[in-house]
Amino acid sequence: MIVVMSVGAVEEDIQQVISAIEARGLSALRMPGGDRVAVGIPSAIPPDMREPLYQMLSVLSGVAHVAHVSRPYKLASREFHRADTVVEIKGVRFGGQHIQIMTGPCSVESLDQMQAAAEAARAAGARVLRGGAFKPRTSPYAFQGLQDKGLKILQQVGREHGLLTISEVMQPDLVPLVASHVDILQIGARNMQNFPLLIEAGKSGHPVMLKRGPSATLDEFLLAAEYLLHYNNSKVLLCERGVHPLDRSYARNTLDLNAVPVLKEISHLPVIADPSHGIGISRHVPAMALASVAAGADGIMLEMHPNPREALSDGAQSLTPGQLLALMPRLRAVAAAIGRSA
Ligand code: PEP
Ligand code: MN
Repeated sequence: MIVVMSVGAVEEDIQQVISAIEARGLSALRMPGGDRVAVGIPSAIPPDMREPLYQMLSVLSGVAHVAHVSRPYKLASREFHRADTVVEIKGVRFGGQHIQIMTGPCSVESLDQMQAAAEAARAAGARVLRGGAFKPRTSPYAFQGLQDKGLKILQQVGREHGLLTISEVMQPDLVPLVASHVDILQIGARNMQNFPLLIEAGKSGHPVMLKRGPSATLDEFLLAAEYLLHYNNSKVLLCERGVHPLDRSYARNTLDLNAVPVLKEISHLPVIADPSHGIGISRHVPAMALASVAAGADGIMLEMHPNPREALSDGAQSLTPGQLLALMPRLRAVAAAIGRSA
């Protein structure tokens, strides 16, 4: 429920609304707007309380109108936050006019590999260097990542090249370690509903990029984001990375491009698209990256490896530095066509 105050409402009116909500054991969230304030109730309202609460709030002094919120998530919804949220991390803005490029290998493998990747990322104009250190692998026999050592390499190389860094965290107790090495925590698709992890990442206040689970609905995705916001983390990026495909013979996943404009409509959070995991075949990644920009993504995550053939994970979907460089002018042209830059 959202209580929209009238333009002439005074502080006393606002306080009265907040007190009336809190007196019923509910939380009240003050939402400053352009010329008026609204007060949101993010917590679930018991069904028998809804109508009396609505009636009571509607007649309080300074209240313009009371609206029911139709979505199960509140803090992540456009209804609670009308303007686009711009997440600013060390001066890099996500969700503004500029489309941010995040790139680097699937996994951190060595210092040399990361240095070559960082040079290519810089040359392409990317602001974020990616590299997994703790890897969620389907098989226990697959490369599991360099772990602590990988985080150190990523941190060092990111600093040397003036790039932000992002890496995945898979377990709640490792949130402090990963957060102390990278600028953005990645919560991977397989962990989208790892609730203890969402709670720890939320409490950390560290920027988080949350990936959509391969079978998650958009409501489930935004409810996972709601955990982060509820635990007081406002620096949240959503990432569409592909859902389970109908047919795996031609692509690893199906990048759900519908999700991009839909998420932008129903949520205020920045939306990143990951065409690398989305289609999973490097020669098709550029087309889906261009399509993601056209669809309205605020950022593009692209796996890129100095030598994809020798990559320890996801080589088949990784661009070479040359392919990334060749893609950039085309991305910029599509961005310009929709009034943005990249
Ligand atoms: C990754 O970014 O390398 C990764 C494992 O992504 P996802 O969680 O989307 O599969
Ligand atoms: Mn990967």
